[in-house]
Amino acid sequence: MKKIVYTLLALLFTQLAWAQNIDKIINKEYVDRLIKTLSSDEMEGRATFSPGIDKAATFIESEFKSIGLLPMEGETGFRQSFEMDGKPLFNVVGVIPGKSKAKELVIFSGHYDHLGIIKAKGDEQDSIANGADDDASGITAMIALAKYYKKLNNNERTLIFVAFTAEELGGFGSKHFSKKLNPDDVVTMFNIEMIGKESKFGKNTAFITGFDKSDFGKILQKNLAGTPFTFHPDPYTRQNLFYRSDNATLAALGVPAHTISTDQIDTDQLYHTVKDEYSTLDSENILATVKAIALSAISIVKGTDTPTRIPRLIEKHD
Ligand SMILES: [Zn+2]
Repeated sequence: MKKIVYTLLALLFTQLAWAQNIDKIINKEYVDRLIKTLSSDEMEGRATFSPGIDKAATFIESEFKSIGLLPMEGETGFRQSFEMDGKPLFNVVGVIPGKSKAKELVIFSGHYDHLGIIKAKGDEQDSIANGADDDASGITAMIALAKYYKKLNNNERTLIFVAFTAEELGGFGSKHFSKKLNPDDVVTMFNIEMIGKESKFGKNTAFITGFDKSDFGKILQKNLAGTPFTFHPDPYTRQNLFYRSDNATLAALGVPAHTISTDQIDTDQLYHTVKDEYSTLDSENILATVKAIALSAISIVKGTDTPTRIPRLIEKHD
């Protein structure tokens, strides 16, 4: 009897600890520091092949190191290097190995490249496309989630955290990444793009691309029941967002790989302009979305939920 009481107490304390932990682990200052650094002028808009993106990669590597992530199997460090037209480029990848289902992979990602220095328009003085929303916000989320799950330390599945390069040039980073693993081992992918401004559904909401292609969205919705946050199907299906981000490569290989966003892409005047800066973002929106993803993914991370597969478009890699 005593033993049962102790076990119950222990369980209760663990659950309480998790509920409290999220606010201790992911708070506004932490999120602000990440996004401010990634979108600072010093990073020069993070164009692929530029010194600015190198600085961004170094920053992400240092965050991965301080969180305590490990390099991906087969890599010597966090940089996953490859070449395009003879020029070097790199994703940044960190791992938390799974406890009992290490072969089952769950991916959290965003893209850290952006447009770099672009031609100033009219009387604009600024020429740095800082890409604060696109996609420093997604990278911020990805790093914060790594910190959260590392602290929780209860992932039965292996968690992979990726900052993709060359998304803006055609998704080359995610294409390279997908060749480095067996897509059949990938349980799901949470790709995060542009969560810096309130979604059209209002406060505490985000949308999921390709919502009907798997039951990923339904699992996330179930895990958020009782919280103020809700996930919605992508309202911009005519924009084809499902095929326009880094989830597309793995999705074509059958992985329930979806993008989570809050951007009002149909009316966003700052999209791909020099005005996509930290000062235009709502950091409460970022924080709320990150915490919602953290909680909604928990059953997938712990291995109790598995999203249904997406029909394959591509049979095997080229
Ligand atoms: Zn983007």
